[in-house]
Order: sequence, then C-alpha cells, then structure tokens
Amino acid sequence: MVYTILILLAILNIILFLRNRSFVVRIVELKNWVQKILSGTSLELQPDPHHDDLAELRQSFIDMYTRMEESRREIETNYRKLQLSSLSLEEKYAQAYTLQLIQEEIARELDSNQLMKKTLDILLGVFGSKRCTIYMVDEQKEVLELKANSGFAVAPELEKIIPLDANHLVARACRERMVFTDADEAMAQGKTSGNIAIPLSGRHNCLGVMVMENELVRIANQDLVDFAKLIAQELSLSLENAYLYDKMRRMATHDALTGVYNRMFLMNYISELFASHPRTVSVIIFDLDHFKVINDRYGHLVGDMVLKETAQVAGEMLPTGILARYGGEEFVVVLPEVPVNEAVRFADSLRHAVFEHHYRTDDGRMVVVTLSGGVAGYPKNADSFEGLLQKADEALYYAKNSGRNRICLVDKA
Ligand code: GH3
Ligand code: MG
Ligand code: MG
Repeated sequence: MVYTILILLAILNIILFLRNRSFVVRIVELKNWVQKILSGTSLELQPDPHHDDLAELRQSFIDMYTRMEESRREIETNYRKLQLSSLSLEEKYAQAYTLQLIQEEIARELDSNQLMKKTLDILLGVFGSKRCTIYMVDEQKEVLELKANSGFAVAPELEKIIPLDANHLVARACRERMVFTDADEAMAQGKTSGNIAIPLSGRHNCLGVMVMENELVRIANQDLVDFAKLIAQELSLSLENAYLYDKMRRMATHDALTGVYNRMFLMNYISELFASHPRTVSVIIFDLDHFKVINDRYGHLVGDMVLKETAQVAGEMLPTGILARYGGEEFVVVLPEVPVNEAVRFADSLRHAVFEHHYRTDDGRMVVVTLSGGVAGYPKNADSFEGLLQKADEALYYAKNSGRNRICLVDKA
C-alpha cells in the first residue's frame, strides 16, 4: 500500500514536473518574443492551442502585437507620403524661385530679340532641354516664323516658316492655344525625346509658340509641363510689353503715313552726327512739284499714295544715311561721308526715278510726279547742321524758281 502511494506520488511529481516544464517553456517562448519585438525583429506569432490563462495572455499579446504592426505600417506609409510631399514642396519652392529669377531677368527687357534669347537660355538650364525654339506669328503673312533657337542638339533642318493653318504641332498649339506634344509618335518610333509646343498667349491673340525638345520622361512629368506653361506666360507678358514699346518708339521716330523717319528723328540724328565730328556730310531737301494740283485733281487719298510711293522709291535707292519726311511733301536725305558732287548725282537719279515711277490711281489713271531738290555739303557750304539745312533749302528754292523738276547745288543757287 505504502509503495503504491509512493509510486502514485512519484507519478504525480513527474506529471507536475512535466506540466510545469511545458508551462515554463511557453513562458520562455513568450519572453523571447517580447525581446525580439523590442529589438525590432518582425515576427510570425502563432496562437497557443491550450485553454488556460497563459494561452489567453498569449492571445492578447498577439492582438496587441498585430495592432502595433498595423500602426507601424501606417506610420511608415505616412512618413513616405510626407517625404514625397516635402520633396515636391522643395521642387515647387525651386520652381517659384526660378520663376522669380526669370521675372527679374526678362521683365525689364524691352528688346524682343534679347527677351527671346534670354528665355531660351533659361529654359535650357531649367529643363535640361536638348533644344528650345520660339516661333512668332506674322499676322499679315499668316505664318509662324522661327525667331530664336538655341540648344545642344545637332539641329536637323528646322522649319523657318510654318503656315498658321498647317497640321503641324506648332501651328496647332497656336491656333487652339493649347499645349501639344509629339511624345506618343516619338515613343512609337522608338525615340527617346520628343517636342512639346506651348502657346505664347497675348491678351487678345496667340503671339507665338515656345517649343522644347526634351526627353520623353520629362515631357510626361505634368509638374514640369505646368512650370513651362508658367514661363510661357511670363514670356508672353514681357513680349507684349516689348512689342508695345517697339510700337511706341516707332511712332515717336517715324512718320505714320510714309513709314520713313520723322522730323524729330531727323533733327536728333543730324545733331548727333555733327557731334561726332564727321569729315563730310551732304544734305538733299526735295519737294514734290505742284503737289497741290495732284491733291486737287485726284483727291487727298491719291496724294497720300504719291507720298508713300515716293518715300518707298527714295528709301530703296538710299546708298547710306537716312531719309526723313520734313513736312508736307518735303523730304530730307542726309548722307554722311558722301561728298557733295556725289550727293548731287544721287539726287538727280532720285529725281529721275520718281519721274519714271508709275503712280496709278485705283481706277487706273496715271499720275505724273516730278520733284525739285536742293543739295548742300558740309564743310564746303556751311559750318553747322542748321546752316547746312538752310543752304539746302536755299538751293531747293532756286530749283523751284528756275522751272522745277531739277536739282540745284547751293553754290550754284
Ligand atoms: P510747289 O511745286 O511750289 O512745291 O507747289 P506745291 O503745290 O507742291 O506746294 P504747296 O506748298 O502749295 O502745296 C503742298 C500741298 O501738300 C498742300 C497740302 O495740302 C498738301 N499736303 C501736305 N501734307 C499732305 C499729306 O499728308 N497728304 C496729302 N494728300 N497732301 C498733303
Ligand atoms: Mg511742293
Ligand atoms: Mg512744300
């Protein structure tokens, strides 16, 4: 009996030992998990098949760990998003800074050619483009004309003139005032770069088109395209200002009817010319004969046509110097470094050309036009520009009084 009890006790001990041992093993396993988690190791946790407190503890540990893993993943995703947005924020900041530089660089530039050149250089730098070109609209000829071009790529023949109604990337961008690209075609042909055409929109119309040849991946980057559009806007604004300035400057220095220089420009030109101490200057003043009669007979519009065509004939013959409308039907030619005898020859060929020119009214009538001219030379006939003009005027007066349709030199006046 005692033995039996002893044996049973021994068995019980063994059972308790084994049970405790597996319990300890489970606790140690749990402890190892915790250590691994603390050291940052990611774990695959299995539930405990037992039905006791330890199994329950283990399950709640697994739940906690799963939640922890989920929030860690969420934090990681948010962190990545934050990194990306800070990257794009940095990019945006760089773009805003570049745009400011561009504004500063081009806003004050009033020469449209310089303006285009500067913008192209900036575009090459900012976008790493292979080539950039600018086409401007010529409204009269209804074409887009290549005005500026720069880049690193060896240029295949660039079209210099593109009709506005052509089915061409550049013409379409202008007509539809939208960005167009040939990236898809380029990709289909296995090329690595393509073109993007961005319209230069003015207040009322399309001024021209900015074209960039870029790597296809860059063209696909909408952020970059948007930025290029911003630059195009800046350029359009500055170009419009430059054109307006050109127009104003032209209006201030040119005669509206004939397109030749006006009296104010002439006076500045000649005074600056004399300030540079020229060796010789010749001046011709010519005046249309009986112009009043032309006006009376054919009307003022025909009179205007005669003035315009005379200015054109004279302008095309001019060997050097300038032609200006002095007033009414009177013009002045200034010929720096031209001796007075040569100036007389030129004036006479001009008189001849005007006489030979076919002035025609709208209804086909011929208008005969003659002119008289007076010539004087510095330093031969005068010692100042005012004196020179006066002497040429005296010679003209003499030409008028001695029968018109002739050229007179002042000392022969
Ligand atoms: P002369 O041979 O002595 O120079 O005689 P003229 O008739 O040419 O000279 P006059 O000075 O008597 O007349 C000049 C005319 O030119 C008078 C003016 O009405 C006309 N005129 C001046 N400016 C213009 C213009 O812009 N357009 C037109 N159609 N006529 C003008
Ligand atoms: Mg006259
Ligand atoms: Mg006159």
